[in-house]
Amino acid sequence: MGTTEAGIIRAIAKELMTIDNSQIFDLKDIANIQFECGKCHGRYVARLSDWRKVPVVCSNCNEPLVKAESLEHEALQRLKDALTKLLESKNPDLIIRFELTTVKS
Ligand SMILES: [Zn+2]
Repeated sequence: MGTTEAGIIRAIAKELMTIDNSQIFDLKDIANIQFECGKCHGRYVARLSDWRKVPVVCSNCNEPLVKAESLEHEALQRLKDALTKLLESKNPDLIIRFELTTVKS
């Protein structure tokens, strides 16, 4: 009977075991961050370990990407800082993973 609490827990556990692990990656697996210009689609790729500043202008077409001093710029800077700190962390008690959305065709 699948409607008992134990049955439901078993069903959830079975569902969790069948999750496609290729859709899950560790924080430490992130190598690069990519920014793409919405106008010319030029791409700026930075190694996470070398990412120094948020690109504000497209290096290909010179159009602005994000306004300096804007909330978006600040959020990107904080993302950079947070990722850097988390990657430098040696906390063995916490493993951070990201799961990609499943694209259904
Ligand atoms: Zn551009």
